[in-house]
Amino acid sequence: MSARVLVIGGAGYIGSICARVFSDAGHRIVTLDNLSTGHRGAVSGPFIEGDIRDRKLLQEVLRSEPFDAVLHFAAKSVVGHSVHQPAHYFDVNVGGTIGLVQEMLDAGVRRMVFSSTCAIYGTPLTLPLTEDLPFAPVSPYGETKAMVERFLALCREREGLQVTCLRYFNAAGAMLDGSLGEAHDPETHLIPLAIQAAMGRRPPLKLFGTDYPTRDGTCVRDYIHVLDLADAHLRALKQLLEGDSGDGYNVGTGQGTTVREVLAATGRAVGTPVPHAPAPRRAGDPAALYAQSDKARLTLGWEPRFTDLDDIVSSAVKWARSPQF
Ligand code: UDP
Repeated sequence: MSARVLVIGGAGYIGSICARVFSDAGHRIVTLDNLSTGHRGAVSGPFIEGDIRDRKLLQEVLRSEPFDAVLHFAAKSVVGHSVHQPAHYFDVNVGGTIGLVQEMLDAGVRRMVFSSTCAIYGTPLTLPLTEDLPFAPVSPYGETKAMVERFLALCREREGLQVTCLRYFNAAGAMLDGSLGEAHDPETHLIPLAIQAAMGRRPPLKLFGTDYPTRDGTCVRDYIHVLDLADAHLRALKQLLEGDSGDGYNVGTGQGTTVREVLAATGRAVGTPVPHAPAPRRAGDPAALYAQSDKARLTLGWEPRFTDLDDIVSSAVKWARSPQF
């Protein structure tokens, strides 16, 4: 079934790749993004430049055609920045989403897939992370996403909003043809920084903490290919279109990978070892985070296709070497 989908924040890394995947799957996509961190060149098809907090614009756009759903990616997402600018993070992530949902309801658009995060769980007491764990975020960023999830759950119960929250683990990788990928400014994520360090485009990578209680002393994360995230969105939308009221799902591979293992995979993919140096721990980094995604498997029929870290990193290298980068 082909749906009309408004993709908010669709010029960013995950949003632009999801928009491309949805378009390839036959859906009609309209993208709205304020280009604060996204890239105009990452968008194909109809594009509206605007801010999620612009209620008048949202009102106009949501009434411009009969949208079946909104994919909501628009957010401030750098954990470290959120610590210093909580007001801005709450304004965009929480305030922006509240306004968006009200405008959606007023316009009769009742389906949303929301980009959530494993950061809502905070520092885990048990692993793998399951959906029934309490929300216990440790950063303002995580707090905004937890708050939005609670708000959306109320709207699901009380306002008839069909909404699914996908809790991403560490999004990584790129379109396999190297046409779209991660390009943050400033870049803070491990894989792009490691690739660029190996290519000599950046200084040696700082290993944030080498004394964690993990198998090699570095942090363990669950790196999930962005195309697997996009597939989870496709399945979540299908379920909503079939009349489901929506739910919250972890989206990770379930495999924990250390920072040193990422560096080794990056060295193999680039063909040059990643120069690196030990550095102090980064504030707020839990030692280990990885998902249990059985709920998405069972309910959405979702299964990650990219379970080999080398494949994930190789796609990111192809992107870093592409002329579009
Ligand atoms: N990391 C690192 N050096 C860097 C960037 C990240 O050692 O320059 C580590 C970080 O401490 C974390 C992992 O790499 O354990 C993934 O970090 P990233 O910022 O990519 O994602 P996060 O887990 O914070 O969402």
